[in-house]
Amino acid sequence: MKDRAMHASSSVFVAGHRGLVGSAICRRLVAGGYKNLVLRTRAELDLTKRAAVWEFFAKQRPEYVVLAAAKVGGIHANDTYPADFISENLLIQSNVIDACFEFGVQRLLFLGSSCIYPKLCPQPIREEYLLTGPLEPTNRPYAIAKIAGIEQCWAYNRQYNTKFLAAMPTNLYGPGDNFDLHRSHVLPALLRKVATARATHSGHVEVWGTGTPRREFLYSEDLAEACVFLLEMAQDRFETLLDKDHAPLVNIGVGEDVTIRELAELICRVLDYQGELVFDSTQPDGTPRKLLDVSRMRALGWKPRIGLEEGIQRTYAAAKDSFVSAGM
Ligand code: GDP
Repeated sequence: MKDRAMHASSSVFVAGHRGLVGSAICRRLVAGGYKNLVLRTRAELDLTKRAAVWEFFAKQRPEYVVLAAAKVGGIHANDTYPADFISENLLIQSNVIDACFEFGVQRLLFLGSSCIYPKLCPQPIREEYLLTGPLEPTNRPYAIAKIAGIEQCWAYNRQYNTKFLAAMPTNLYGPGDNFDLHRSHVLPALLRKVATARATHSGHVEVWGTGTPRREFLYSEDLAEACVFLLEMAQDRFETLLDKDHAPLVNIGVGEDVTIRELAELICRVLDYQGELVFDSTQPDGTPRKLLDVSRMRALGWKPRIGLEEGIQRTYAAAKDSFVSAGM
């Protein structure tokens, strides 16, 4: 039983199953015939509380864990609530990672994001660029928490031969995203702003920053595919990602990026909105470019399927009713 890839009857704890990432992973697991998902809402299990996490693991004994629970948000939220971003994430991940060791979890997938890499590192960003330069200040507290989690996975793997892997997706979007304009990332924010402008016959949409930063966008269901691909991977292949001389880290992205202006124009086209884009350069741009090098996943045989335009159409189709019920 020990050291085998995940299979249909394995017990799998998806932490954060109501979020953008966790919900997509659950849908994919259910579609793939997984029958033994262990899920807890925040009200049922507060992952910042160590005793509660211990009690849960002792009772449930999950064999596989996907750690998708985290405090996340866009550039404004990260900048406004830096203490929450570092403290909550450190607590959640150290409780869950320690518990995965303590209770003999066979594989852990620890999720973070591409903002762990230095602000000005060469592009596309290879996994080995981690900790080679200063971080982008607007999300440094979140990034440092995630880097600590990667280090913790690596340390456990070295000291105790655990199979803990950190998967770092690029900017994600999809159904169930956060569309609150103060907390959301750029893609859901612009989708909502353009939908509102169209519905209210406004002639313009406000876009933060200069529009020149470049970002790469991955559809949440593609990330879910990648995560299940990693969890189902044969043990010997999976272990190639856990070489003890390097951080156990794999980038998950599409390998192509667009400018924020191009993204905004594409959203206008998908929603058939003809108004003008107005750039508010008093808002921060954040890091100038964040394009992942995805050759490690490509070499293993995984690539995304949903292009940006199709992903925007699907996300909009899933969200538009909630925009209307929220009065835009
Ligand atoms: P980041 O990738 O960590 O910088 O986070 P975001 O997704 O929040 O922002 C990405 C880029 O989009 C930044 O340059 C923002 O200034 C820009 N942007 C443009 N309009 C918006 C908006 O309405 N909301 C957000 N969150 N970002 C926006």
